[in-house]
Amino acid sequence: MNVKNCPGCGKLFMENPSGMCPECYAQEEVYEHKIGEFLREFGKASIERIHEATGVSEKIILRMLKSGRLQAEGLNMIGYPCDMCGISIFEGRLCSKCGSNFTKQVKTVYSDKNSTDAQRGVRMYTKDK
Ligand SMILES: [Zn+2]
Ligand SMILES: [Zn+2]
Repeated sequence: MNVKNCPGCGKLFMENPSGMCPECYAQEEVYEHKIGEFLREFGKASIERIHEATGVSEKIILRMLKSGRLQAEGLNMIGYPCDMCGISIFEGRLCSKCGSNFTKQVKTVYSDKNSTDAQRGVRMYTKDK
């Protein structure tokens, strides 16, 4: 049996599939329900907005989102911050703007290094797909 620190309250608990202590798990279920109701009523919302409306801390919302708990309910409607600029997005890890910048950067890196092998590799990889 492994003992872990609960990510919610920091207390030690016996490791279980939920990844947190039973009290925090029960608490998150309440939060999950609250957020679910809010989204059903208002549709898509950013984490900030959900926090204001439900009182659930943004940190907890983000953690639930990352653990897939909120999506599990079929509620893929929460905006979360883009990894690069922090704007609210609803899918992927980057907003469309940063996403296209990122792709450009990757291409630049490849040609800057003059690594034709890498480019060939990429092309082959895409072809194979
Ligand atoms: Zn806990
Ligand atoms: Zn962005």
